[in-house]
Amino acid sequence: MKGKENSFKDVTVRRQNVADALQWLVNNNSHYKDITINQNSLNSLPEHGVPHGLLSVETENIDLDATCEPDLGPQNEDDIVYNEGTEMSSFLPIPECQQQEIEAVRQQLSNDSNHLPWPTVGSEPLNDNNSPCWSSNILFFTFSSADMHWPELHAIFGNSVSNNSTDNKRQNVINNPHITDWFFTQRLESFIKYWLYNSLDAEWHWYRFEYQARGSIHCHGVAKLKNDPGLCKLSETALKGYLAEMSTNTAEQVNILELNQQIVDGKKASQVVCQYVDWLLSTYNPDPPDNGTWVKPSIHPCQKRHKDLVSLQDSEQDYVDLLNTVQRHTRCSTNYCLRKKQNETELKCRFKFPFEPCVNTKLEFEPIHTKDGSTQYKAKIITKRNDSRLNNHQRLQLQGWRANCDIQVIIDYHACVEYLAKYASKGEPKSPVMKLAFNSIVRNCNNNSNPTKLIKK
Ligand SMILES: [Zn+2]
Repeated sequence: MKGKENSFKDVTVRRQNVADALQWLVNNNSHYKDITINQNSLNSLPEHGVPHGLLSVETENIDLDATCEPDLGPQNEDDIVYNEGTEMSSFLPIPECQQQEIEAVRQQLSNDSNHLPWPTVGSEPLNDNNSPCWSSNILFFTFSSADMHWPELHAIFGNSVSNNSTDNKRQNVINNPHITDWFFTQRLESFIKYWLYNSLDAEWHWYRFEYQARGSIHCHGVAKLKNDPGLCKLSETALKGYLAEMSTNTAEQVNILELNQQIVDGKKASQVVCQYVDWLLSTYNPDPPDNGTWVKPSIHPCQKRHKDLVSLQDSEQDYVDLLNTVQRHTRCSTNYCLRKKQNETELKCRFKFPFEPCVNTKLEFEPIHTKDGSTQYKAKIITKRNDSRLNNHQRLQLQGWRANCDIQVIIDYHACVEYLAKYASKGEPKSPVMKLAFNSIVRNCNNNSNPTKLIKK
């Protein structure tokens, strides 16, 4: 169990003490008076020792290559609700619960009427050999919470956000996690409608809520926009041009014309990709703090409401204030982003900050080595940038949502599969039953298997 200052201690349980405590509750607490104590669960606890289930509890999974995971924004002192001093309680898994979970999963799967097809897009099954662009042009987004600042949230607690001390605000959030989470989900649902559908003209979207280690809610999602120019195909054309350019010196004379055409097509395709990305997102800061001209606003920009911005000038200033307050990865720290890779001595930011400046958005190709020894290329977009610590953002998303956001667009099949798999399958730490079952399914499957049969096994 994790305690203050990152210390760890074993959780020991004394069965008799648990039994006594429960009995006391039944005798003295009116909410417990009708409760029957489950002797089987009680007997599964050790007489005095570490509970069996806890021996296998997974620790925080530090994924060295978790570059897909978006940065959830700078952690300013005033924004932190749960700090290092917060003692977090721990969940005690009881083997019987797990038993029930297995039963529930089994029940669900053995229901014959449940038709369970492989996932498909249109009528084509997902298959990375014949349709490499099935999932192209997907946009990934993240919304973080500014629960210390949103005026609408603090109005629910009966306080004005500007006339309340930081300590009071923090206490309100800590005391009312249910309201804070509910507010976030409501705000998100209404915002997504306008942002994705009315403004970006999305075809579909999907999202999920997650909780950071210290309990703060955030949301990850994906969406497909109707106006995509076919980024995946375009990147392929651009790659062809890139490879043609590399081979012009060694090519035979007869091929030169064809290669030249590929180079021209590639350049055009690359231009379309870059234009689209520039339309959608930015890493450009109209007034980076390093210029020395930006003045930190006296009111935190997340405490402003959109309707408070009257003039165009207000809106420009607000945009810069938000960028410089919530959208910059200002410092790297070992407990958040600094990681050491195997065989390397230097600590590196897993979000790759700080970035080099870049005059114009461009497409680059990175060789990746596949299992069969062939070399494939991964397309990478480098966006126009004048601020080494600014996160990807979309102006409307940021100014509408009013807290740290992230937006990424996938232009390449390899990157997309990587992203989708991580987003969709990132398990809750406590779903070991499903994880085991899934691993065994994957081990035993081939393309022709009947999925329902396979899962039942
Ligand atoms: Zn960092």
